[in-house]
Amino acid sequence: MNWSKKNIDLTKDLISKQSYSGREKDAVEVLKQFYKDCGFDEIIVDKYGSCIGGIHGKRSDGNNLITLFDGHIDTVEVDEKKWTYPPFGAVEDNGKIYGRGASDMKGALSSMAVAVAKFAEESKKDFSGKIYVSGSVFEEIFEGVAPRSVSDITNPDFVIIGEASELNLKIGQRGRAEIVVETYGTSAHSANPEKGINAVLLMSELIQRIENIKPPYQEKLGEGILVLTDIISKPYPGSSVIPDYCRATYDRRLLVGETVDSVLDPIREVINKFKEEKGVEVKVSIAEEEKICYTGEKIASSRFFPGWIYDKDEPLIRKAYNGLLNSGLDPEITNYSFCTNGSHYAGEKGIMTIGFGPSHENIAHTDDEYIEVEQLDKALNGYFNILNEIYK
Ligand SMILES: [Zn+2]
Repeated sequence: MNWSKKNIDLTKDLISKQSYSGREKDAVEVLKQFYKDCGFDEIIVDKYGSCIGGIHGKRSDGNNLITLFDGHIDTVEVDEKKWTYPPFGAVEDNGKIYGRGASDMKGALSSMAVAVAKFAEESKKDFSGKIYVSGSVFEEIFEGVAPRSVSDITNPDFVIIGEASELNLKIGQRGRAEIVVETYGTSAHSANPEKGINAVLLMSELIQRIENIKPPYQEKLGEGILVLTDIISKPYPGSSVIPDYCRATYDRRLLVGETVDSVLDPIREVINKFKEEKGVEVKVSIAEEEKICYTGEKIASSRFFPGWIYDKDEPLIRKAYNGLLNSGLDPEITNYSFCTNGSHYAGEKGIMTIGFGPSHENIAHTDDEYIEVEQLDKALNGYFNILNEIYK
């Protein structure tokens, strides 16, 4: 069996099916067919549309370990005019495959699925436990929300996130929260501004005060960061009207152990003082988002995705590391600088999680996104050798 070619073919087939968040159905069909062709023991499409394939070990002794590979199957959208290559053409040129999702992260998802198929065949399923792969939906909108259902179904002991790590081993990430601050004023004709209370002016003063809040710091994950990302007022446009509403959004990077209250409390303190001084209404909350999946199911969550970190000496992490060494790789052990589905598996559920994936994170979301064929091969090998180590 030429597994390397199978991996290239599956990567291209996945890229050729546009799968923007909430519209992943066609790519899911490709993955489902791959599971079928490779004789997976379980094939499940869950309520949100994530596509899970599982193989079952034949041995009943041993550690009965359940491993889950998670790769999101959705992508961000493209501005086709800016692409030199057709974004869904999966054109191979000079050792690279071009297309939306090549690096983020259909190449990784394919490598994981092919590695599991290869392991099933070469081990003749003579191992104890189960191995799952999930092409998870909606990651680009909600990191770690669709995986809630994937982890309920598969109940894993160990999760491998395939987001780009340049073939290094990731053992943590900062999480993220979106915080909404709202000020309420009183509208008036702009010819008589003194008769109203300008919600934008209130907000501009409040923003200065929030700037003085110092977010927490943790040695391994760095700074918690609190940064203003947008501001909007109503009515908009506000011709000849004093705005009576203003909303500002903040992005906050979360460290390990932070909760909604620990994140909001310092802002609440500033706001309470401000309200007392000004006698106005101000609110703060975590942003809420709701979308519809291609299955028709509603997916909703507050935008609070926890951070996580593990010790590099954890036994499963050591084994995974050894598997990568056996693949001829020399991985650095570090943290992801961005938020991933690990927010759910590790951050919310406390399941041992690592990240290992092909390609460079800065190719994600770019025009002419690509993945190097060599990276695909190395990732496939890496995943396969991780399985060899943990099911030894
Ligand atoms: Zn991604």
